[in-house]
Amino acid sequence: MNHCTNCESSNIQIINEQVPFSYKSKTVELVLHSTVCRDCGDEYVSADQIKEADNLYRQARADIDGILKPEEIREIRKCFGYTQEEASQIFGGGSRAFGKYERGEVNVSTSMNSLMLVARDVPGAMDYLVERAGMKPKVELKQLKAQMAELLSVHKPRNKHLDFVIRKPISWISEVSANDDSDPLTELSV
Ligand SMILES: [Zn+2]
Repeated sequence: MNHCTNCESSNIQIINEQVPFSYKSKTVELVLHSTVCRDCGDEYVSADQIKEADNLYRQARADIDGILKPEEIREIRKCFGYTQEEASQIFGGGSRAFGKYERGEVNVSTSMNSLMLVARDVPGAMDYLVERAGMKPKVELKQLKAQMAELLSVHKPRNKHLDFVIRKPISWISEVSANDDSDPLTELSV
């Protein structure tokens, strides 16, 4: 907001104010911003400044609760190779939950936080959650693709082998028929 909300003047000044914030018997200092108009003297907190303060309070609560930060949540999700929508499906909390967590719009609950830590730190836990959500583990999909690629590469030499097997009796038949007047196919069928 670059104009005074009272007189529309652009002659405004941003004020920094250190504010103590107490939460769960801990107190931290937050720097909040407000605006004062040099023309009419009106003091106000703009919409952007309110949003900024909301984020600071939320971040302070997250720090005191010791819950995962937005970038840490993003890292866990990406490490397992899921989209935000998929991760929301796996962990629950609504289809847009992870978008909100990762943008820092919403703090994860302490129980959701614990679930994410278990998924990150306990081998097999993520696979379990993925399976419960009726989905396929991404790592497993990667393995399947690798197996398919291997099968396809094995398929070619097999073809050559098959070619060899087919060709051999044919050449053998032609050799036989060159030395013998009788029908080689009749002899073979005996
Ligand atoms: Zn003003």
